[in-house]
Amino acid sequence: MTAEFLDWPVPSSPLAEVEYSQQATRFSVWSPKAEQVKVNLYRRGEGGVPFESYPMHLQVDGTWTVAVSGNLNGVFYTFQVQTAGKWKSETPGIFAKAVGVNGKRAQVLDLKETNPEGWERDARPVLRSFSDVVLYEMHYRDFSMDKESGISHKGKFLALAEQGTKNAEGLATGLEHLKELGVNHVCLLPSYDYGSVDEARLQMPQYNWGYDPVNYNVPEGSYSTNPEEPAVRIKEFKQMVMALHQAGIRVVMDVVYNHVLDAGTSAFELTAPGYFFRKHADGTYANGSGCGNETASERPMMRKFILESVLYWIKEYHVDGFRFDLMGIHDVETMNAIRKAVDQLDPSIFLYGEGWAANKPAFPLELLAMKGRMVQMPGIAAFGDEMRDALRGAWNNNKKGAFLTGVSGHEKNVKFGLMGAIQDWAAAPTQMISYVSCHDDMCIADRIKATTQRASKEERIRLQKLALTAVLVSQGVPLIWCGDELLRDKKGVHNSYNSPDSVNAIAWKLKTEHIDLFHYIRELISLRKHHVAFHMGKAELVKKHMEFLPVKTKNVVAFLLHGQAVGDTWNEIIVVLNSCKQTVKVRVSQGTYTIAIKGGELKESGLGVFKGHLLAIPPQSAMMIYR
Ligand code: CA
Repeated sequence: MTAEFLDWPVPSSPLAEVEYSQQATRFSVWSPKAEQVKVNLYRRGEGGVPFESYPMHLQVDGTWTVAVSGNLNGVFYTFQVQTAGKWKSETPGIFAKAVGVNGKRAQVLDLKETNPEGWERDARPVLRSFSDVVLYEMHYRDFSMDKESGISHKGKFLALAEQGTKNAEGLATGLEHLKELGVNHVCLLPSYDYGSVDEARLQMPQYNWGYDPVNYNVPEGSYSTNPEEPAVRIKEFKQMVMALHQAGIRVVMDVVYNHVLDAGTSAFELTAPGYFFRKHADGTYANGSGCGNETASERPMMRKFILESVLYWIKEYHVDGFRFDLMGIHDVETMNAIRKAVDQLDPSIFLYGEGWAANKPAFPLELLAMKGRMVQMPGIAAFGDEMRDALRGAWNNNKKGAFLTGVSGHEKNVKFGLMGAIQDWAAAPTQMISYVSCHDDMCIADRIKATTQRASKEERIRLQKLALTAVLVSQGVPLIWCGDELLRDKKGVHNSYNSPDSVNAIAWKLKTEHIDLFHYIRELISLRKHHVAFHMGKAELVKKHMEFLPVKTKNVVAFLLHGQAVGDTWNEIIVVLNSCKQTVKVRVSQGTYTIAIKGGELKESGLGVFKGHLLAIPPQSAMMIYR
């Protein structure tokens, strides 16, 4: 920690900017260097003037407090801080738990009132081990905006709480689709209050991924049915969590503690100027996020903030996991502190992140939670971009293909990903997220289209199946981007963070058109769940019981799993990934095997029998046999 912050006291009690009771409300805000601080009370979430303002009083722990008597439930408030003789703009504080439209003012709210019926009985679906996790990353609008989604609450939290929704041909959509697919975690793109969608103008279609945080501890208003009424978004988020839990699906929040929408006008800067952000020697904001600023997790109050925010989402909203955006901007110590605190609540809560930053952070690299430091962060996973790039090509060149499109030289990194990165940066295969596409960059269907020359749709579907087979037979933790199981596309758009629904929304008629692809992915997920050999969970088991078969042909990867040794009902499992345009032959031990996958078809109980030692794998497809 830089010496200049040593004289900023840090409270030992949890951050609580509002403590409500029917008799009185106690406000507090951390601002050790302020000259004066006041709290302004309002009747409404926007407009008008305060009906009351109270000066606050500095405590030894650096917080300013005031208790206001009376029942303040429903009253809106802002804090205001004076430094260098000047009053700064009003802010809802750094830990607002309820806010009005666009998050400008916080609200005193009895949170118990926001609990939906049955909330006290809501339970986290059982998870035996991180090796059982199957992630499905999604955006509310992508998933529900299509006119054929059959979902009423399009683009809302409640879209994921609707039962029995169907597309025009009667196939399941929404929550029913997720149940049918068999994923056990959804990772929701930013769901906290962010700034890039104007909640006061929702009649205008607006789309954003939401990587521009405003209030970290409040659900985003545009995903609620009424952003003007603070309790509504809170209750609806909880309804969504409860519906997903009842469907056996855990909820992962995408958390973006590494930067804010705008540092200068952020609650961090308006309450404790200069403290929460890293700066260069010349006083300018460091920009490891590529979004104009980077937070300083190594400073005790920022670390405390992240930690308590994570715990708050778990306790108040029953969230089951977290994806840390640009985790490489945070320090290792903070990430380990989060794992430790979360373990005390529930060690089955899954934590993972992006083990990189957009630009070089203004902090010693060896202390940052980059992918190369994962061995120092047990129980936390990172995205495995090696296999992603080896399959589809690097993120910075849309037109360049790799293994999938027959470019040789990528076999090594495909193998690297199949093993769960344990030959290098992962101490356990569950520390690697296995994926071929996520919200960033082109989705896999677009990428395959962009990197194949005049390929027919049939050929592109073959490659899509091959890509997702690699992901789902990897020892890492598989992640599927929403709609990849339906051949969804984004009209070729690479960075679709603010593209309209016409680009981002999944057309649910795709499920009807590509039901064969959907069935293949669904059966692959089911097969993975049934067979522990595909997710052994421990590096020493993978090293011992997974072996790559010698293959001379380029663009072919073959491996053998000794299933029985890890408790699988299948003993010898052989998987071959062939991206060549012709049938290839691979030598296996002489014997009689059951065929589970061949030529884009999958049947766990068997598609037929293979006898012999020379296995023929059809073009551009995966093959799996077992005995
Ligand atoms: Ca917002």
